[in-house]
Amino acid sequence: MWRSDTSEQYRVYEFTDEFVVDVLTWACNTPNADFTEKINTENMSDKLIKMVSDKRFKRFREEMISLSNCKDIQDVKQLFLLFKEKYKEIIQGQVKLPFSLDEKIIEQIKKPFDYYYKQLIDNESFWGIYNPEVKFVSKKKVREVISKNRVCPYCDQVQIESSTKTNMDHYLPVSVFPYLGVHWRNFVISCGICNGLSQKNSQYYLPILHPHYDEIENKLKFSFDFANETATVQVDDTENTIKSHNYLKLFDFNQLYKGTWEELNDEYDMIELSILKMYHKDKGNIEIVKCNEIIDESINFRKEEHRKSAGTRTYTKMKYDYCSTYDDRSEIISWLMNEQRTR
Ligand SMILES: [Zn+2]
Repeated sequence: MWRSDTSEQYRVYEFTDEFVVDVLTWACNTPNADFTEKINTENMSDKLIKMVSDKRFKRFREEMISLSNCKDIQDVKQLFLLFKEKYKEIIQGQVKLPFSLDEKIIEQIKKPFDYYYKQLIDNESFWGIYNPEVKFVSKKKVREVISKNRVCPYCDQVQIESSTKTNMDHYLPVSVFPYLGVHWRNFVISCGICNGLSQKNSQYYLPILHPHYDEIENKLKFSFDFANETATVQVDDTENTIKSHNYLKLFDFNQLYKGTWEELNDEYDMIELSILKMYHKDKGNIEIVKCNEIIDESINFRKEEHRKSAGTRTYTKMKYDYCSTYDDRSEIISWLMNEQRTR
C-alpha cells in the first residue's frame, strides 16, 4: 500500500520483448503455417530459427503453429507493441487502447503465452539463444531476490520474504491480456492471496493506480469505526480519483482487513508507551501544554516509525493512518496529570 517500485529488478526479462516481437511478426507474415512436412524458416529471425531447429523445443514449435493459425494475430501484435512502448501511459490513462481482443482470440493465444511464462522463461537453453550475454537466472531466484525483506505491496499484510511465499503477479491479468504473459513491466511481486483474488480475472479497469508508479499511500486512506472495531479503506485523492477508485475495485481491502483490529490495539498500546516514556524523560512539573507537546511528539514518532518500515513490515499503512486519527487526548492528559499527582 506504499509505492514500491521493483520494475528495475524485473528488467532481467526485458529480452523476452524481442522474442515476442519475433514470434508475432513471423505469425503475422506466415498465416496457417504447418511444420508437418518440413519447417519453413522464411520470415524468421536468426534467433527464432535457432529455436525452431532445436530438438528440445517441440512444444514451442506446436505453439508457433497455433499462433500462425490465429486469424487476428495482427491485432495481438499491434496491442503488444503498444504496451511494449507505452505500458505506463496506458496504466495511467494517458494512452487509450484502440480496441480490446475478443474472447475467441484470447482463448486462441492463451496457451502459447502461458507456455512462455510457465516454461520458456525458466529454460536455460532459451536464455542461451535470446539472451546470450546474460547468465541464466531461474524464476525462483528472481523471486527470492526481489521479495527479500518485503511485504506484499498490495495488501501490506503478508511478509513475502521467501520465494515460497511469493508470487509473480501479472498486474494486467493474462486472462484479459494474454500477450503480456512474459512482459517485464507487467510483473509485480505479491503475496499468494492478492495474486489469486478472483475479481482480478473477471474485471479490469483502466486507468488504475500501480504500485510501481503511484504513491498509493497518498491516494488511499484508512478510516476507523471504533464502535464496531473495523478499518475501511477509502479514496483520498484529489487529482485523479478514477485511478484510485479502480484500484479499490480491484482489491477488496475492506474484506482483506476484516478482523485486523487487534493490530490497532497493539498500536494504541505503543502510542501510550511512547507517551509514557517521553513523560518520564521530563521529570519536572508538567503543564497541560507540555502534555500536548508530548502527545504530538509521540504520535509523530510512531508515524515516522511506520513510514520508515513501509514495505518491510506489515500493517504499516493502517497504523500510520491510525496514528493520524489518534484522538484520546483528554483522557491521556488526565491520566498523565494523575500520574504526576501520585508521585
Ligand atoms: Zn497481498
